Amino acid sequence: MDEKQPPIIIIGAGLAGVEAANQITKFGIRAVLYEMRPRRKTAAHKTSGLAELVCSNSLKSASMENASGILKEEMRCLGSLVIEAAEASRVPAGKALAVDREIFSDYITQKIQGNGLIDLRREEVTKIPEDGIVIVATGPLTSDALCAEISSLTESEYLYFYDAISPIIDADTIDRSKTFRGSRYDREDSGDGDYLNCPLSQDQYYELVDDLIHGEKVETKEFEKAIYFQSCMPVEVMCERGRETLRFGPLKPVGLVDPRTGKIPFAVLQLRTENTEETMYNMVGFQTKLKYPQQRAVFRKVPGLERVEFLRYGSVHRNTYIDSPRLLEKDLSLKSRPSVFFAGQITGVEGYVESAATGIVCGINASRKALGLVPAPAPRETSIGSLLEYISVPGKTGFQPMNINFGLFPKVEGRMGKEKKRGIIAQRAIESIRAYEPF
Ligand SMILES: Cc1cc2nc3c(=O)[nH]c(=O)nc-3n(C[C@H](O)[C@H](O)[C@H](O)COP(=O)(O)OP(=O)(O)OC[C@H]3O[C@@H](n4cnc5c(N)ncnc54)[C@H](O)[C@@H]3O)c2cc1C
Repeated sequence: MDEKQPPIIIIGAGLAGVEAANQITKFGIRAVLYEMRPRRKTAAHKTSGLAELVCSNSLKSASMENASGILKEEMRCLGSLVIEAAEASRVPAGKALAVDREIFSDYITQKIQGNGLIDLRREEVTKIPEDGIVIVATGPLTSDALCAEISSLTESEYLYFYDAISPIIDADTIDRSKTFRGSRYDREDSGDGDYLNCPLSQDQYYELVDDLIHGEKVETKEFEKAIYFQSCMPVEVMCERGRETLRFGPLKPVGLVDPRTGKIPFAVLQLRTENTEETMYNMVGFQTKLKYPQQRAVFRKVPGLERVEFLRYGSVHRNTYIDSPRLLEKDLSLKSRPSVFFAGQITGVEGYVESAATGIVCGINASRKALGLVPAPAPRETSIGSLLEYISVPGKTGFQPMNINFGLFPKVEGRMGKEKKRGIIAQRAIESIRAYEPF
């Protein structure tokens, strides 16, 4: 380590910030990592732990047949702290990588606190420091003062949309005589039985849809326009799009045979465990902005949930992100001020894993800049490179946040089936990330 090398400042110790800090230290550079919690809270975080997962405990698919699985494998190749922590705190969830959120966050907090090159400071940053290299990783719930600073630095109004989070219920209060275990695509390797399923009859399904449509909701403020991100759309908004929408979405019964009747129910609400002790269950895909008493009344009509206790109600939150295609280079530095980098959800990627992945490449590129080296953008064939391409290539109107998906990767030419194409994409991505030498 070069004592004279100034530390890199990171603002925000969420999923992106901790990854950036971890990568910086691999270059032998010191990092000062600012985190405003617990002194200043956000609308969604509940603890003072680093890299807190604020909603679902799932980091999505771990399968290489899925774009999210490819992303995780690439991150593993780059020495991701988030993937390491996820593996140390994994809970059963079929093919998904789901974690015990407390163990996950504790693991990361301890690693960061135990790293001699990282100076963790529990303070809110309201101004972006003028000197040195700075990484802004303050996430979708960036504090107001810093929002104003970023707004003026980027000469832009904030863009925003709404995410909604699903309720969590107490496992002991579920009536198991009415539910059954099973995964939608039961195969031997799928973690058969990881979900608890609540079967709904036709009448129960339409009553639920009506309740969701007519139930009292938390109002959207007049100056705010409701723009929902597709994969986090509240269930009641889905219902407004059509009475069958839920049956083809989160309440899809396909592949779930109720052992008591030997039949596939009309609709199924799935519950997924939140922790290793299986004391909490998440209502899968049931993000909502219904008012709390309404949630209690409506969801208790679902078979098996009649007496359920809610540990956390569903809710809605505002999300903020910058217009990255206009503002950022592919190494995630600001075009107008190259010593300032952005990482995480604030860049317009969407999701825990995507946010963490940008933290890794941002940490690498900020370190390279500190050492006077040229940037090392992730190869285009990789999922990380594809995400960076999406957020940094100008010319998009109405820039919207994006999860990793197969549509972002470079095309595979030639006529062949979807599975085969995806196999080639996965193989190409992994070969490229292995050949990538940023250190
Ligand atoms: C309510 C909610 C639910 C979500 N649900 C999901 C989900 O289920 N699945 C999913 O994949 N993604 C979800 N997301 C999206 C996203 O993946 C997460 O927000 C993710 O944590 C983003 O990572 P990040 O590192 O960019 O930000 P964060 O993890 O939020 O980290 C940013 C950190 O910066 C700190 N901070 C903010 N301002 C300052 C400041 N001025 N000074 C110092 N520190 C500051 C915050 O306290 C926080 O710890 C959700 C987002 C929200 C807000």
